[in-house]
Amino acid sequence: MPLDVNRFQQQYKHHLKTTPGGQAPSVIETDVFIVGAGSVGCTFARNILDKTASIDKLKNTKILISDLASPAFPHHVQNHENNMGYQQDIDKFVNVIQGALSTVSVPPSNAISQGATSIVGELSTDWVCATPNPHAEELPDTFTKSEWDVLFKRAKELVKSSTAAHDEGIRQDVIKRTLNDAFKSDADRKFESLPLAAQKPTPESGPRLTLKADTLTVAFGCADNKIECAIIRDFITGEHSFVVAKVYVAACGAIRTPQLLWNSDIRPAPLGRYLTERPVAFCQVVLGRNIIDKVEKDPKYADRVKRHRQAAPGDSIPIPSDDPEPQVMQPYHTARPWHGQIHKDGPSPGNVDSRLVVDLRWFGSGKVNPDNRVEFAGKIHSEEARDAYGMPQPTFNSKPGSEDQERNSRMMSDMCEVASRLGGYLPGSNPQFIIMEGALASNCTGTNRAGTDKAMSVVDKNSKVHDVQNLWLGGDGVIPSAMACNSTLTSICYALQASDSIVEYLGRV
Ligand SMILES: Cc1cc2nc3c(=O)[nH]c(=O)nc-3n(C[C@H](O)[C@H](O)[C@H](O)COP(=O)(O)OP(=O)(O)OC[C@H]3O[C@@H](n4cnc5c(N)ncnc54)[C@H](O)[C@@H]3O)c2cc1C
Repeated sequence: MPLDVNRFQQQYKHHLKTTPGGQAPSVIETDVFIVGAGSVGCTFARNILDKTASIDKLKNTKILISDLASPAFPHHVQNHENNMGYQQDIDKFVNVIQGALSTVSVPPSNAISQGATSIVGELSTDWVCATPNPHAEELPDTFTKSEWDVLFKRAKELVKSSTAAHDEGIRQDVIKRTLNDAFKSDADRKFESLPLAAQKPTPESGPRLTLKADTLTVAFGCADNKIECAIIRDFITGEHSFVVAKVYVAACGAIRTPQLLWNSDIRPAPLGRYLTERPVAFCQVVLGRNIIDKVEKDPKYADRVKRHRQAAPGDSIPIPSDDPEPQVMQPYHTARPWHGQIHKDGPSPGNVDSRLVVDLRWFGSGKVNPDNRVEFAGKIHSEEARDAYGMPQPTFNSKPGSEDQERNSRMMSDMCEVASRLGGYLPGSNPQFIIMEGALASNCTGTNRAGTDKAMSVVDKNSKVHDVQNLWLGGDGVIPSAMACNSTLTSICYALQASDSIVEYLGRV
């Protein structure tokens, strides 16, 4: 059927600003349109390309991805933190992260972080590559145990998660040994290597995949429970276009995905609700004399220490300057429902040699509560209130309950107990609860959650929006449970299941 562009223009004129020169918006046709080129959008693209390649009817399936961010590198997936300058002085990197953030929520708001920050470009800016498996208690019941096992195996292979990159480090070994010795009477507590997605995939370029950067997806046009187009705006040219596809995917973060649906007048009651945060307890420790002595005297490290002494005879610290950073975790446990990570990620105030400093971050989980929510213009503010991109202004309305506060306080004590076995607090980095950079915006779950009950969920098990034929969602907002451990791997599991179902749908239409 020929496209009725005039009708689109009439019907969606409230989303169209004048295109320069007054031309009509162009029309771009594709098979699958994905909003968001973060790790979840890329998972959708990767899996659909792989699965359709061997199916005759689908082997020419074309995908278009739009992302509002500018490409910083020819390889979009390159992490800025890999830049040699930052690798040599990781403390400088914090300024890059700060520069990439922008405020999302505005008053009135009772969220912990009123000045919460926007998407950080995750993979390219400050995704710390942590890919631990969640504990069974953190996982929602969307899938059975055996389904989760298969999805996690696929997700870990996709992001090339392993502990190999850091396991040869002296500090990695000495910290794990010190803590496992210190807590050996506690059979339930163990310190292990934190798996990292340390090898980055190369993005596919080719006739089947197109990435349109600097391109905001303004809204979906929905008629008769079906998306008939997406309206996009190119920031560089100012031009609007209609994208017409068979399948639409919104994977643009836990706040911007419900925002996009809201702006598209797709507003099921649970949209934006069940916003579940991850409280973070933090401190920095200067490794104690006992640990440095262990490095100095333990025959296990003798060769590396000797080589270092020869190369840097004046250095009083026995740790080689190229020793990989420690990446240690204390997994979630029923008795301790939080997830601890020991590594070196933040800057260290003062003049302490950064080889001697480790960060402790203990991640908790809030109770899932429908009243904790993000609301968009039209609810708190007038429909006209817009954010920096011209999208409906989000405002967070979220606070911890008494159960959360009690658990957070136990989590803080646990972190302090572990810290005391490693050394003393770095002045200025005493134990504190922190709002992680971008935390509320890119580190919460539940805002477009999966479930079977339409009154309490936005998407089904396959991440397809209830009652909309051809719209799938991705990202942390889909996860209906509270997660202490890092969430990307779980979101990738949902995206794998969702994109399997998209391939099945494409085979039918
Ligand atoms: C500081 C920090 C560190 C983290 N480290 C880890 C970690 O080590 N391990 C882990 O598992 N998790 C980590 N997380 C969580 C992780 O960032 C999320 O799980 C992950 O980003 C989810 O991926 P995504 O693709 O759904 O969303 P995002 O990475 O947020 O990608 C969404 C994309 O959509 C684009 N977009 C948004 N709106 C629009 C629109 N309307 N039109 C076009 N494009 C749009 C954005 O520009 C963005 O590129 C971290 C979070 C933070 C804040």
